[in-house]
Amino acid sequence: MSNSNTDKYPRPVSSVWGDETAAVDAAQNWARRHTALANDPKSTARQAESLAADVGATITEDGIGHAEAMRIFDEVLHPATRSADDPMNLAYIPGAPTRASVAFDFVVSAANVFGGIWEGGAGAIFAENQVLDWLMDLAGWPDGGAGCFVAGGTAGNLSALATARQRAKTKWEADGRYPNGRPPEGFAIACATSAHSSIRSNASLLDCEVVTVELDEQGRLSGDNLAPVLDEHPNVFAVVASGGTTNAGIVDDLASVVRVAHERGLWVHMDGAYGAAALAAPSVRHRFEGIEEVDSFIVDPHKWLFAPYDCCALLYRDPTFAYQAHAQHAEYLDQIVRTDVNPSDLAAHLSRRTRGLPLWYSLATHGTAKYTAAIERTLEICREVTDGIRAADHLEVVVEPQLSVVVFRRVGWGPEQYTAWSERLAHDGQMLCVPTKHEGETLLRLVFTNPDTDPGRVLELLNTTMD
Ligand SMILES: *Cc1c(COP(=O)(O)O)cnc(C)c1O
Repeated sequence: MSNSNTDKYPRPVSSVWGDETAAVDAAQNWARRHTALANDPKSTARQAESLAADVGATITEDGIGHAEAMRIFDEVLHPATRSADDPMNLAYIPGAPTRASVAFDFVVSAANVFGGIWEGGAGAIFAENQVLDWLMDLAGWPDGGAGCFVAGGTAGNLSALATARQRAKTKWEADGRYPNGRPPEGFAIACATSAHSSIRSNASLLDCEVVTVELDEQGRLSGDNLAPVLDEHPNVFAVVASGGTTNAGIVDDLASVVRVAHERGLWVHMDGAYGAAALAAPSVRHRFEGIEEVDSFIVDPHKWLFAPYDCCALLYRDPTFAYQAHAQHAEYLDQIVRTDVNPSDLAAHLSRRTRGLPLWYSLATHGTAKYTAAIERTLEICREVTDGIRAADHLEVVVEPQLSVVVFRRVGWGPEQYTAWSERLAHDGQMLCVPTKHEGETLLRLVFTNPDTDPGRVLELLNTTMD
């Protein structure tokens, strides 16, 4: 080892664990090999029963030893998982972390910093905040915003909505509009029918009703359709707009939504878990017009910002009510200095790993221009594949891509053919493209987040038949 830090921080041998060097080396060697290999082989899930037969008992009184644990992981467990970053994985929302970001995830673990509170994690949180500042700049926000990284979009949406409700309660009580700030019919959230499933699930966790708004003719949530719904439901405290729907990549009409919601004093949250990465892409930035005025938004770097799981950036234009909703108070916590922002005060968490750092390292390494180029490349790949679909007699584009999702039809096919074709390609490890539903019809959907996907290869596979 030539690393001078090895001398500075000798690896301690624990009186309980003994010398863990061999176990550490085995794990690090595996990680090193798989960091260099960008694409893990495709693989399929197996039933727990079948895994049990091959794995046996691993949690035993004496342990099975690192060599056997690593063998089982490498030969049995890992092959029964799917890598999200294969360039031909175009299902759900895949991801394509840079190798630098993946490698830095080990550093985050090795540093093992408590990232909830500035006092414990100042340096790491400072770097995370530089990334959050970049995102807030892309949104065109003024100074004064704040945020933190949470595990995923679902958690980010939940924390933002809890904050919005805190603000409504406070305001409505102060206004004398409702006693205790609580509407007798309960709280409600307004969103389009196309909003992500996590909004409904979060509403249920917050014990809120969801009132849905019909889409406009372009498939978006718009102010015109929103206004009458808000007038009918005075108990709505927040409007959720999508900055790229998951199913079709549609960006809601943020500017009109913000206008209508803010006229009524309501919070606007933009769910950009998938799509807000495109704020960094000049060719589509105009679709987000209005984001300058939203009150909060999220983006998942593990989707389209080339970072590994799990990572969601949660941002507040004004964090005042986030503190009120989320800061935890307890005897052992109350000595915490709150002059600098503590990430734990901004979301429903206390302990957290500094999960924004892999993105920080990769952004710092490559520069933001390369991020723009990578996102633009995925948009181009989507356009090329869409053009190919349009040109093919047996295929029809159903939803024109606004970002990097295309939904299309294979003329004459029904649900069974789609499923059989999709399963065969997945099984052969050629491409992951799974059916979806759009306006009740089963269709195919491709999502591009990997700049190394070969559009020609995708089109070749779209031309394959059933046999
Ligand atoms: C993926 C997604 C989510 C959920 O994010 P997780 O990180 O999976 O929790 C929420 N909203 C949208 C629009 C998404 O695409």
